Amino acid sequence: MKTEFFIPHYVEVLINTLEKNGFEAFIVGGCVRDLLLSKIPSDYDITTNALPEQMMQCLNEFKCIPTGLKHGTITVLNDGKSVEITTYRSDGEYLDHRRPQSVDFSANLNEDLARRDFTVNAMAYSPKTGLIDLFGGKNDLEQKILRCVGNPQKRFDEDALRILRGLRFASTLGFDFEKETLEALLASKELLREISAERISAELLKLLCGKNAKKVLMECTEVIEVIIPEIKPCVGFLQHSRYHKYDVWEHICTCVSEAKNDPIIRLAMLLHDIGKPDCFFMKDGEGHFYGHEKKSAEKAQRILKRLKFDNGTLERVVLLIKSHCFNPSDDEKQIKRMLSKLGEEAFFQLLDVSRADNSAKNDFCKEILETISLCEAKAKEIIEKNECFSLKNLAVNGSDLVQMGFKGKEIGQKLDFLLQGVIDGRFENKKDILLTILQDMI
Ligand code: ATP
Ligand code: MG
Repeated sequence: MKTEFFIPHYVEVLINTLEKNGFEAFIVGGCVRDLLLSKIPSDYDITTNALPEQMMQCLNEFKCIPTGLKHGTITVLNDGKSVEITTYRSDGEYLDHRRPQSVDFSANLNEDLARRDFTVNAMAYSPKTGLIDLFGGKNDLEQKILRCVGNPQKRFDEDALRILRGLRFASTLGFDFEKETLEALLASKELLREISAERISAELLKLLCGKNAKKVLMECTEVIEVIIPEIKPCVGFLQHSRYHKYDVWEHICTCVSEAKNDPIIRLAMLLHDIGKPDCFFMKDGEGHFYGHEKKSAEKAQRILKRLKFDNGTLERVVLLIKSHCFNPSDDEKQIKRMLSKLGEEAFFQLLDVSRADNSAKNDFCKEILETISLCEAKAKEIIEKNECFSLKNLAVNGSDLVQMGFKGKEIGQKLDFLLQGVIDGRFENKKDILLTILQDMI
């Protein structure tokens, strides 16, 4: 029976136009995989035997942008959406484990599918022809198996990024590796050193956000060690603590999986305890890790810089790691102090970090989850009621203090002093009261 998919009109029109002009055209890769999984594809790629100039010519009623002519790719804008169309390719030789030496256009769809990484990513479809599945991709999808197209060792050797793409798909799709694919992937791990930091971090983030992140991180630890050697001491490091049932690395992997599906939180969980082995000591038969949050934050800073994460991500993740040892409570003063110190966004992220952390310890630690929810609810209430926890809602501001004759650094210091007093409940947040307090100090 011919497989039939619903393809959005803005994509179908492009396929039809290419076919009307005598060319072959298919949707291909990730979108076919997602359609077979009954997921809505994030985007559609088209593969065709038309050369870029021929595509531009027959699609001239649409806006065509020559985004990658060298690789045979143009981007077509239709109905406010973009579709990448690429000429059938057969990649030339790979000499540096990264990119083919040359890209040859091909007249043959089979060649184009054969150059793709995994069987589940190597299917094509058109309404006219139906599904084209030369490598058993549909069956692998049904069996939830990730398998290389062709010889796995050769495929990872050609392009080492495929190693991490493999981990990423295993995690996001929740698939198992086929045996030879896994063996080749592990055997090729050192080749990842040839891949740019930017490409590695993009794949790493997707891996961390997958539903099977824990399993993949545990199964392919040695691959992660190539990218982040700092995790090595954590693997198998026993904590000797009544709070923990896992060694440090398994605790980390569990935290990643338990965490909210947000790249910042998941990245923070991956690195939040990497300083632990450095800080370990035994006292009265119990393991302790004083100061590990600071050590972990220092290491995280270096790792994120090396992996070329943007500054915003780096600073936020480091802040969350540095702060992750706080004791959640529903005490209003503590909440206001933390809101003031961290800002609203980071404060709520820290609660997510703490949730994940406590979900991955011994079972009794889960009791704290209720307190975290209370803390979150109270913080939202404080914000909603516009209660004072930061300078922006303090009843006096810098210019009030200038008018009283304060200068320079003193202004900031006095404002902080008033804010702390208001947060602690010693002063009422009223302008005349706060100004009188300052007056008395003069
Ligand atoms: P996503 O849903 O994340 O976009 P995707 O499978 O579409 O996943 P892309 O990076 O968009 O991934 O790549 C599109 C297709 O191109 C893949 O499905 C695969 O067929 C092929 N591909 C991409 N990168 C590689 C690679 N490094 N080696 C071989 N084939 C690749
Ligand atoms: Mg894609």
